Amino acid sequence: MERYEFQAETKQLLDLMVHSIYSNKDIFLRELISNSSDALDKLRYQQLTDTSLEPDSGEPAIRIEADKKARTVRVIDNGIGMSKDDVIGYVGTIAKSGTKEFLNVLQKNKDKALSPELIGQFGVGLYSCFMVADKIVIETRKAGENKGLRWESTGDGTYTIEDIEQEPVGTAITLHLKATDAEDGLFDYTDEWKIREIVRKYSDYISYPIRMQVERTEYEQNENGEVKPGAKSKTVVKDETLNSIKAIWTRSPEEVPDEEYNEFYKHISHDWTDPMDRIAFKAEGTFEFRGLLFIPSRAQHDLFYRDSTQGIHLYIRRVFIMSDCKELIPEYLRFMRGVVDSEDLSLNISREILQQNRQIQVIRNKVTAKVLEKLADMKEKDADKYTLFWNEFGKVLKEGLINDIKNRDKLLDLLMVESTADAEKRTTLAEYVSRMKQGQDKIYYMNGRSRDAIENSPHLEAFRDKGYEVILLTDAVDELWVQAALEYDKKQLVSVGKGTVDLGSEEEQKKEKKELEEQKEHFKSLLEFLKNKLSEHVKEVRLSKRLTSSPVCLVGEATDMTPQMEELMRSMGQDIPKTKRILEVNPGHPIFQKMQERFDKDRSDPVLGEYSELLYGQALLAEGNQPPDPGKFSKAVADLMARALNG
Ligand code: ADP
Ligand code: MG
Repeated sequence: MERYEFQAETKQLLDLMVHSIYSNKDIFLRELISNSSDALDKLRYQQLTDTSLEPDSGEPAIRIEADKKARTVRVIDNGIGMSKDDVIGYVGTIAKSGTKEFLNVLQKNKDKALSPELIGQFGVGLYSCFMVADKIVIETRKAGENKGLRWESTGDGTYTIEDIEQEPVGTAITLHLKATDAEDGLFDYTDEWKIREIVRKYSDYISYPIRMQVERTEYEQNENGEVKPGAKSKTVVKDETLNSIKAIWTRSPEEVPDEEYNEFYKHISHDWTDPMDRIAFKAEGTFEFRGLLFIPSRAQHDLFYRDSTQGIHLYIRRVFIMSDCKELIPEYLRFMRGVVDSEDLSLNISREILQQNRQIQVIRNKVTAKVLEKLADMKEKDADKYTLFWNEFGKVLKEGLINDIKNRDKLLDLLMVESTADAEKRTTLAEYVSRMKQGQDKIYYMNGRSRDAIENSPHLEAFRDKGYEVILLTDAVDELWVQAALEYDKKQLVSVGKGTVDLGSEEEQKKEKKELEEQKEHFKSLLEFLKNKLSEHVKEVRLSKRLTSSPVCLVGEATDMTPQMEELMRSMGQDIPKTKRILEVNPGHPIFQKMQERFDKDRSDPVLGEYSELLYGQALLAEGNQPPDPGKFSKAVADLMARALNG
């Protein structure tokens, strides 16, 4: 026998479980059954692909045994079983990728009790048994191996492993119940009715039979099947199936109660919270398949990790084939969970084949369409719920605008954005369009770090003046999709921070243009001077039509990257050359009139050079960025103030 230590984080978790943090301890049984069901799925699939395995391990089933005297509950399955490595890797360690993340969460929540939902995201199923048991014994033999093993732990930070001779393939998990559970007197987890209740409540959808031996008192009957008064009775022991077995997605949606769907969701997603919504569909025609999909209530913790889970499981004619089948759903819908069951695919399909398979393409398109349809419907009928959805998953959905060109219009319709129209509520593009001013033919947006930074930036001045609404985009992904999605409802999406702006009616524009031409002539030499002075920082200096009160702002050309985008790309390790921007000056601001006069008098006046630098620094500050040399900038401002007081 060898003794092992649980991984450090696992110990913390065990401790939480031993001093049970949940009020609902019943779920330990659900977790055991869920694991058994997974193990049966895996074995069935392996038997399909690996002919060297014992083909006959009996009818796949889960058995529950309760022993009142010994105070034990056992859950037995003839699934895939576990090797020594499996046990050490899966049972002694917290779910693979989540470990570090889990530790962070633990640290962050040191003083607070961890919520079950939080913990549930890390897959701690088996440990939940320590809520009711003070000793857990796992006896298991993996398919294809000739020896079994016994794992034992009292949840004290260590566990032991020893070899055993175990005949059948599969796993038996025995819980030695804590004394306290019997003490409240109401029930005991060895009670038949209690087990039956838990199974019905949490595990009815499991597609393998869950059996238990039950004792029944039977009375002698006459030939008509009647029991006579005073008839002799005897106790018989019978095998009973506790669940209804049928795969939940094959049942008609009207006959399945919400609770059962929710439990099924929890089983496949390892989430402990009910889903926000679900989609059940059946496709008939050339390829037949069914789907049962769920929109979770909360964003998964790994949503933005490189290899986050994509939660669609593939079944073929009710046989589990694989989990996280990435081919079944586009990446931007990776938060969805569910199953797809195909009638026509071949059972020995491999990952490689999946990628080119035409049926998989058909399924993927259908799944995508169904999800987008559901979301559109939710948005239409239940705006509050849709807002909740958007808060959790909006950022991910936006990725679709970049990648899923075919569905871009649908996705643009689903988009919720902040805008200058309402500080409290997000808006849709359709609503934006409905509020467009007479003569406005474009949709205006601005990217920035935060709503505040954008709202205060000088770029918006002319738009505000004209009463034009501007969409405020603050997510990193926004930079990408606005460049990809150029139009909505035949209206161009235009950044207010890029290119030139032409607002108002044609007539107004003509007039403005004429005025600007005249001003250009007037300021020509000064603009030239500024350009030379600042050539290190900007590629052009020109008069602005977007400024009404600020003296200067920086803009890009329509195709230029924004500074935030450059920053983002650099932070991802890309070597992006700095794009020089354009300095726009406000011809209506008195400073330029004064500067022009100075310039005309004495072109070599040192104040002009100093002012150039100050103006550039201001333009950067106004959009929430730093001047190239903040210390120098600040000193220059102080000097200027002192001079102003003296003068
Ligand atoms: P999860 O189910 O989220 O992976 P659990 O704590 O419930 O986490 O189980 C941990 C791992 O232990 C499982 O992923 C599985 O590999 C293994 N396991 C648990 N129960 C069984 C079982 N009955 N048969 C085979 N493997 C099992
Ligand atoms: Mg589990």
